[in-house]
Amino acid sequence: MSFLFVRLIILPSYKEIKMAEEIKKGKIVAFSYELKDDDGDLIEKSEQPLEYLHGSNNIIPGLEREMEGLKAGDTKNITVSPEEGYGEYDDSLVFDVPRENFPKEMEIEIGMEFKTDTDDGEMIVVVNAVTDEAVEVDGNHPLAGENLHFSIKVEGVRDATPQELQHGHAHHDGHNH
Ligand code: ZN
Repeated sequence: MSFLFVRLIILPSYKEIKMAEEIKKGKIVAFSYELKDDDGDLIEKSEQPLEYLHGSNNIIPGLEREMEGLKAGDTKNITVSPEEGYGEYDDSLVFDVPRENFPKEMEIEIGMEFKTDTDDGEMIVVVNAVTDEAVEVDGNHPLAGENLHFSIKVEGVRDATPQELQHGHAHHDGHNH
């Protein structure tokens, strides 16, 4: 499970492309990463390279900007502030949902995730607390308010296909339309 990407893409057998193509808008980038918090504790790490379409907001803005101009084989340490990552922690996204809005027979436990419709569209919320009357949920991204310390390695850069450009994301094995 990864929180980082709008579209999480795992390449089962990505082969490094040995071409000196620079990352710029319209390129498909494959990269691996480690992500740590301010204490240096590991938050997550890519098991396999992830692929995204550069310049299309497929990844968080602070990371995308720092990837610009890198080439296959390059490594970089990138620190992303909350404003350019997952936003500041927003107390107003913590709210109570009447217990009756959940299926009666369902056991609601702290830490469970639900999708809910809001005025701003679909939101993923995590259960904070449960009483007989209400379920307190938190709609903040799990990494909201965090400085994100990435160590990345660019594994490959290639031109996007016309279809990828049209769709605004990378295509790969397992991504079907
Ligand atoms: Zn597509």
